[in-house]
Amino acid sequence: MTNKNPYEIAVEQLERAAKLIDLDKNILERLKRPDRVLVVNFPVKMDDGSIKVFTGFRSQHNNALGPYKGGVRYHPNVTMEEVMALSMWMTWKCAVAGLPYGGGKGGVIVDPTALSKGELERLSRAYFRAIAPIIGPLVDIPGPDVFTDSQTMAWFMDEYSKLVGYNAFGVVTAKPIEIGGSLGRETSTSRGLFFAVVEAAKKLNIDLKKATIAIQGYGKVGSYTHMYLDDIGANVIAVSDIKGGIMSVNNKPLKFKDVIAFSKKTGSVIGFPGTKQISNEELLELDVDILIPAAIENQITEKNASKIKAKLIVEGANGPTTPEADDILFKNGVTVVPDILANSGGVIVSYFEWVQNLMNYYWSAEEVDQKLKNIIINAFNRVWEATKKYNVDMRRGAYAYAITRVATAMKLRGWV
Ligand code: NAD
Repeated sequence: MTNKNPYEIAVEQLERAAKLIDLDKNILERLKRPDRVLVVNFPVKMDDGSIKVFTGFRSQHNNALGPYKGGVRYHPNVTMEEVMALSMWMTWKCAVAGLPYGGGKGGVIVDPTALSKGELERLSRAYFRAIAPIIGPLVDIPGPDVFTDSQTMAWFMDEYSKLVGYNAFGVVTAKPIEIGGSLGRETSTSRGLFFAVVEAAKKLNIDLKKATIAIQGYGKVGSYTHMYLDDIGANVIAVSDIKGGIMSVNNKPLKFKDVIAFSKKTGSVIGFPGTKQISNEELLELDVDILIPAAIENQITEKNASKIKAKLIVEGANGPTTPEADDILFKNGVTVVPDILANSGGVIVSYFEWVQNLMNYYWSAEEVDQKLKNIIINAFNRVWEATKKYNVDMRRGAYAYAITRVATAMKLRGWV
């Protein structure tokens, strides 16, 4: 698996799901490739007066269900194959959530940490000008990803608005609140993840007031999920970050507000009073009821899958479980709520932001929260039904459901 590029992996996953649902061959052939990939080489004036040419991509995978949607990442290792794979995954993620969107993704080959703020702004504006011919509020709506944030989105939106001559807030999502952003976006992924945990616990008859929970990763997704679990009196007994993990002694629940204050002060969760230090590997194998990987990819593999004791895994991170581990977990009766469902809160609230931009009418935080909850719970139950129908794990169930939705739209539109 490691020597396959991400696009080959994405195609393999699609082919596996296609077999399961007996997908029309013509539809499969079309879905294997993105509709369009734009490669742009654009000049940026650096602070020392020199001109550097950067390469960027925008891949538009499929828009049968609605405009293309997906983030833009800045990273020195960005490749066209990676962006193509990510755009295909966005098609499935949007389809699982039931959003009227297709999948897209963009990237620029750059180490953003080596640029000044001025250089970063000029690069962002130049990239967006270069891809502007295929972007638009009703065509393709980018958002943030690795090393891009709400400031990047503000520059993208402003550049596009200048090109078209009006305030096109709906051209990107995850903007600052003052210029068209939505309330509830900052915590949207963790809030959605929390709803997925609650729904899965209900299905598996796990009492969240009694169950024990471990969270790997204490960034935006992991820490806020801890906060929401605290709110309902659930017992998070272990957490970790890149430096390692901590586990409470005597299974006494860790409190979010104390752990986050400690972590912000010291730079890590390690050393938090009343805990014993464990490794990230040990955290995954703890005797807990629920495990929430919320750090990075490839954490649960064929090496440790059989040692996992949790009954339920809810994926906050993208790709934390390898396909080999999926098979082992399924055989051992462990339920895995897959990333494309469990961490879709971010794209769902991005969709809300876009709807608010198109209407020029803005919702309260409570409205956003209620709508997010409805969408996640509905999606969860549709995936659950597909999982039962095909007698597969939830990841295959989610793929089966998503691809069926896209394929139906393609057929209805007469594309095949
Ligand atoms: P973040 O950078 O805020 O936090 C990442 C956390 O993981 C940090 O605590 C970091 O110390 C820890 N970490 C990094 N490397 C690690 C390692 N090797 N072992 C253990 N811990 C490690 O990132 P985030 O936004 O919280 O994203 C976490 C995951 O969730 C990523 O896989 C991301 O793709 C996914 N995700 C995030 C969002 C979002 O809205 N932020 C949406 C969908 C998916």
